[in-house]
Amino acid sequence: MANRVFNFNPGPSTLPLEVLEKVQGELVDYRGTGMSIMESSHRSKEFDEINETTMALVRELFGLSADYHVLFLTGGASSQFFMLPMNLLNEGDTVAYVDTGTWSSKAIKEAKLFGNVHLAGSSKEQEYKFIPKMSDIQFPTNARYLHITTNNTIKGTQYHKIPDTGKVPLVADMSSDIASRTFEYSKFTMFYAGAQKNLGPSGVTLVCMRDEMLQQCKDTIPTMLMYKTHAEKKSLYNTPPAFGIYIIKLVLEWIKGNGGLEGMDKLNSAKKNHIYGMIDKYPDYFRGTVEKDSRSWMNITLRLPSEDLEKKFIAEAKEAGFVGLKGHRSVGGVRVSLYNALPLAGAEKLAGFMEEFKKKN
Ligand SMILES: *Cc1c(COP(=O)(O)O)cnc(C)c1O
Repeated sequence: MANRVFNFNPGPSTLPLEVLEKVQGELVDYRGTGMSIMESSHRSKEFDEINETTMALVRELFGLSADYHVLFLTGGASSQFFMLPMNLLNEGDTVAYVDTGTWSSKAIKEAKLFGNVHLAGSSKEQEYKFIPKMSDIQFPTNARYLHITTNNTIKGTQYHKIPDTGKVPLVADMSSDIASRTFEYSKFTMFYAGAQKNLGPSGVTLVCMRDEMLQQCKDTIPTMLMYKTHAEKKSLYNTPPAFGIYIIKLVLEWIKGNGGLEGMDKLNSAKKNHIYGMIDKYPDYFRGTVEKDSRSWMNITLRLPSEDLEKKFIAEAKEAGFVGLKGHRSVGGVRVSLYNALPLAGAEKLAGFMEEFKKKN
């Protein structure tokens, strides 16, 4: 048996053991080809089958109609921050963004390079402790799109309702909660996610975009930065991050085999209940940093009564086999990341560890 820890890393993060073992089994001889998929041509029939199957699994799991393009790009979610406005905006155009933390702020910064950014809502003045109320999200009806960050990996907040944007296309950075719960993905004209939290290894970014939006994208920017290039060639214009796509396929198969998004929803709900349960039981000791109705199911942020206790907690947790609990360097404290592949037992045992730690300290 592999000596696996409970890996609470915020990203790159834990992957299902079954997936890693499958990769291991197929690594040196992929299905009788006598080579690894890493060593195969991206034009081979083996890779073509992986690419097609992965796109089909994305459509199936997320319930996307045939007019969505499914792309596997490079440059991380961070490259989508500029690629989207670069493809869509013409002189004088306006886009709307909700600012709910570090990643939204970065997306806003890039969008400003290409057009007018209307701030549709923000919780910045309150240290990003909540997701703005739907009624407080306001934007002009001529905005080319409204951009939200569905889960705020660093601040620990998450949308639990999707804003109704009427005719304005809704766009989302879903890097840290994609495939974690049932969600009407088809409400989003475009969504994207770096793979390294819930989908696979770093180096691949999933982009899903309705054809209607793709048709409005520019042809006058560098070829590699055009969505159209990658959509027309099914992500095979140049050499794609093939090995990463292969792992995404295995992860999506694992999700499907575990009840699909409903299965993930149930699992993740049970996991977060263990940890928030401790926060609610001992609120003066495990101090949740965000408002209850904005709590993230994926990244739970908390403070202990002192920084010394936080250090001790993180160090002793590590010794006990719970790894990756340090809060982001910009906010400190403790962060418990409960991505899909983190087993229920990990959350349950960590909750037990928290209770013990409180008693002793
Ligand atoms: C991790 C993360 C990013 C950055 O992803 P990269 O792939 O490193 O560029 C962007 N947005 C959110 C919400 C994230 O969690």
